[in-house]
Amino acid sequence: MKLLRYGGKGQEKPAILDREGRIRDLSGQVKDIAAAVLSPDGLARIAALDLERLPLVTGTPRLGPCVGQVGKFLCIGLNYSDHAAESGMAIPAEPVLFMKATSAIAGPADDVVIPRGAQKTDWEVELGVVIGTRASYVSEKDALQHVAGYCVVNDLSERAYQLEGTGQWVKGKSCDGFGPLGPWLVTRDEVPDPQNLQLWLDLNEQRYQEGSTARMIFGVAEIISYLSRYMTLYPGDVISTGTPPGVGMGLRPPRYLRPGDRLRLGIVGLGEQNQVCVEHSF
Ligand code: ZN
Repeated sequence: MKLLRYGGKGQEKPAILDREGRIRDLSGQVKDIAAAVLSPDGLARIAALDLERLPLVTGTPRLGPCVGQVGKFLCIGLNYSDHAAESGMAIPAEPVLFMKATSAIAGPADDVVIPRGAQKTDWEVELGVVIGTRASYVSEKDALQHVAGYCVVNDLSERAYQLEGTGQWVKGKSCDGFGPLGPWLVTRDEVPDPQNLQLWLDLNEQRYQEGSTARMIFGVAEIISYLSRYMTLYPGDVISTGTPPGVGMGLRPPRYLRPGDRLRLGIVGLGEQNQVCVEHSF
């Protein structure tokens, strides 16, 4: 299933794509694409619905982030060896964990606002993992059973705030709008192998990032098992699993985002995002 949320910011309604790719409203069935709805029982209830009988959403509404009420937005850094190399950093011995503020979460086609005074705003296409059931001390073997589904994430980053100040990466990762999720949450049954997905990102119609999740240093199951030893993962938590090479910081000379730039990024089978960069104006 492809689950999504549509409507104005903060007022998104739950929905599902039907076989023809049309949006069907789910608000008569569930409150949101969030929390218990992401559990195996919750997803089974939606799977049992006759989509033809759900209200058709006409026009082209704004899409919101495909998951609501995200509790934790966890990210793995330097998880592709070729990206670690372009960043001038060593291949990590264990997953590098950082967090993004949940207030950074945005819709897949919302404008990317370049923060006030920012000079080094960068892109990162990533596979997002949405947790469906509580996970604490889970083995690698059982880890994927805790996944509700997958989505595209753009882990936008302001490199100066991330790397040139003091403290952790979180400042450079958490600016408003720096976490577009979607367009949809693709349930786990439609993604038989999360380690065989093709990711790509175009800036102004030119390809900058291309990669496969087969090249991850730590795979999805290993990441979930690892994180669950440090904190309990809950339904609706999102884990962004790292980016393949081709980010702006890795180019010689570096190329950072400017107002008017257009990003298009996606993962084959999980849909694509489209963003226009705009100046901070409020
Ligand atoms: Zn990242």
